[in-house]
Amino acid sequence: MIRTRFAPSPTGFLHIGGARTALFSWAYARRHGGRFILRVEDTDLARSTPEAVQAILDGMNWLGLTHDEGPFYQTQRLARYREVIEEMLATGSAYHCYMAPEELDRLRDEQRAQGLKARYNGAWRPEPGKTLPTPPAGVLPAVRFRNPRDGVVAWDDLVKGRIEIANGELDDLVIARADGTPTYNFCVVVDDFDMGITHVIRGDDHVNNTPRQINILQALGVQVPQYAHLSMILGDDGQKLSKRHGAVSVMQYDDEGYLPEAVLNYLARLGWSHGDEEIFSMPQFCEWFDLDHITPSAAQFNTEKLNWLNAHYLKRAEPARLAALVQARLAARGVTVSATPALAAVVTLHQERVTNLNELADIAEAFYVEPRPPAELLVKHLTPDSLPALADFIAGISDVAWNAAAIGALIKESVGRHGLKMPKLAMPLRVLLTGREQTPSVDALVALFPRQEVLKRLAVGGANR
Ligand code: GLU
Repeated sequence: MIRTRFAPSPTGFLHIGGARTALFSWAYARRHGGRFILRVEDTDLARSTPEAVQAILDGMNWLGLTHDEGPFYQTQRLARYREVIEEMLATGSAYHCYMAPEELDRLRDEQRAQGLKARYNGAWRPEPGKTLPTPPAGVLPAVRFRNPRDGVVAWDDLVKGRIEIANGELDDLVIARADGTPTYNFCVVVDDFDMGITHVIRGDDHVNNTPRQINILQALGVQVPQYAHLSMILGDDGQKLSKRHGAVSVMQYDDEGYLPEAVLNYLARLGWSHGDEEIFSMPQFCEWFDLDHITPSAAQFNTEKLNWLNAHYLKRAEPARLAALVQARLAARGVTVSATPALAAVVTLHQERVTNLNELADIAEAFYVEPRPPAELLVKHLTPDSLPALADFIAGISDVAWNAAAIGALIKESVGRHGLKMPKLAMPLRVLLTGREQTPSVDALVALFPRQEVLKRLAVGGANR
């Protein structure tokens, strides 16, 4: 049974890199009929906030990355960490270290001054035949892991290939501070073990932690999971992805009018590929996803491609669903959507032409508020030669059948009578009805409005000219 996890630290929002890690972990579990576990790594009390926990849950929820178990919170598992620490002390794989923080700092400074790597000197590490110093009175000890001295720690990373580190490079890691709180790497180890994680899929900023974690797992005598370290994501400009690049929080993509399926599809291709496939659903992705086709090199963010995918999904989306999303956006702007024109019909007419929901909301808004055509557009399009055609069209409105075909015929007739080309009437109609020059076919546009509303908008606009 494959068991994967996503283990965010709740110190900010769910960012794009985290979302991709979550997506790959989720998809791997789905691909293999396994379980996906959500674990909140909140032991850093100074940096973890309930808002950040909520932001992560919101982001996961928006993307539809549902977990099968959890969320587990590390702060609720402290007794368990304590228990494992006691066990390790009892078996000798961990030991008390009474070196005061100041002393450790001094030691490190000296080492650096000598051009050496700063590290703990093993003063309190028990060795056969070694006499340990006497514990100073009134000092609480930290607990250190007794890292193997010799040999190497190695793993076959499922993305990066074989990685080997000499144990001599690794310090005896503090696993519990003097105040008793367990440290980060230790909690991860206990959790991965307790939660039966078979595949740890995470960002490659954790590669350095892996040898330490493997050594602890081995000291506990438990199965070591497989590791897959994902390369980082660079911004459009090739630099490390950061706030400078605009949206980095997943929920900001929601604010900016992206559909979750577009973001998911986009993230899926950030460092993973299936032939030349660019557009695919999540069920399809879960069928294809594997760790063999993840590239070990950094993936570069490409906003244009995300926009292209978003436009694609907007075109295909159910109008009723888009209408609900647009309606919420309009409500947030204080715009009430009336029954006519039906928002779904407005959406249907425009969804092929936009790259995000905010654009769609901008267009839709014009249908539900008093139009305020910009003066320059009125001057540009309500020219003296166009006015007679407009007058004819207005005169024909009360008798025309209220559908796009009949309205189209009336437009044709009105321009034809004055020897004008279509745009001479189509443009004034667009501008007067919506305040914009670009709209879908003008007959369909007119037909969306109630007849009276068209009369009103044309009269008001005509009088303002
Ligand atoms: N909590 C870590 C982070 O947010 C992830 C730890 C892990 O995946 O092992 O970067």
